[in-house]
Amino acid sequence: MKRENELYDRFERKHDYLRVSLTEKCNLRCKYCMPADGIPLTPKAHLPNTEELLEIISIFTEMGVKKIRFTGGEPLVRNDAGYLIEEASKKVPETAITTNGILIHKYFDLFEKIGLTSLNISLDTLDPERFQFITRRDRFDKIMGNIRTAISRDFHVKINVVLLKGQNDDEIIDFIRWTEDTPVHVRFIEFMPFQGNDWDNSKLVPYFEILEKVNEEFSTEKLKDGPHDTTKSFKVKGAAGTFSVISSMTAPFCSSCNRLRLTADGKMRNCLFSTKDTDLLTPLRAGEDIRPYILNCVRDKKEGHGGLDIFDKLPNRSMIAIGG
Ligand code: SAM
Ligand code: SF4
Repeated sequence: MKRENELYDRFERKHDYLRVSLTEKCNLRCKYCMPADGIPLTPKAHLPNTEELLEIISIFTEMGVKKIRFTGGEPLVRNDAGYLIEEASKKVPETAITTNGILIHKYFDLFEKIGLTSLNISLDTLDPERFQFITRRDRFDKIMGNIRTAISRDFHVKINVVLLKGQNDDEIIDFIRWTEDTPVHVRFIEFMPFQGNDWDNSKLVPYFEILEKVNEEFSTEKLKDGPHDTTKSFKVKGAAGTFSVISSMTAPFCSSCNRLRLTADGKMRNCLFSTKDTDLLTPLRAGEDIRPYILNCVRDKKEGHGGLDIFDKLPNRSMIAIGG
């Protein structure tokens, strides 16, 4: 069978995009991501080392993965992050990163060298005090400085903004204003439920409400979205940048999903909302072929939202332990 060893699931979705969490650690403590008392960290011996991680990545690329995004935790706090990203970039046409931006200044040269041109940087507010409240850390100026440098060095900068009602939804218009004269791409993300993040439906700012607010103030145009895009993209007419909404909750994009995940502790997940992990590190260390594990995990993928009714039941890990 042609597809026997390819990453197709039972719903004919082809998977060629792997999100690799480099670490469970982070230098911020965002309230919607990290439980207040932190998460128990996996002992180092149970985490894939540099060679093991590259071996797992290579196997995925041999099976058809074409794009790798590094995430975490904060991917850039891992000591070998630069080496891993560079080596991985030799195996796939596209590498990308999602980062809180605190450390990116150390990696600009590397990213330019390997052709990693698009940076997803998380920033939920334009107000330094509010930033400290949300992230429990005082790093706003550092991140803003890095964002400005990234833009001036011509990186394609996407800003991830998780919207929470009553917390930062009053900044939607300010974020859009930023796009008017700056080539920055703001992405509003609907708040998603994970273990320990105090999710509740009333904190969600739904897609339609975001658009309503924006359209009251600006004249906007819809942009074309790619076949696997999780974003619905727009721009203010004549603006230098764009904005989009990631409507994971109110208008999910499961039917076109091409993503697989590798957690920092070497486990594979077929969906962000999955309740099951597939351990790849243990069989790899035992000298087994991990391809059958990968294929079974892909074939086990549910049609939507990990098979969960996510409004009733939470995924069984915090966001930071899965890798965003
Ligand atoms: N530390 C990096 C960062 O903050 O960009 C990478 C990891 S973080 C888990 C990846 C993305 O997930 C970030 O954009 C973050 O805002 C988003 N995120 C975390 N928890 C979320 C939640 N409960 N709902 C929606 N997005 C969330
Ligand atoms: Fe850290 Fe990113 Fe989670 Fe914030 S969203 S706590 S920066 S992993």
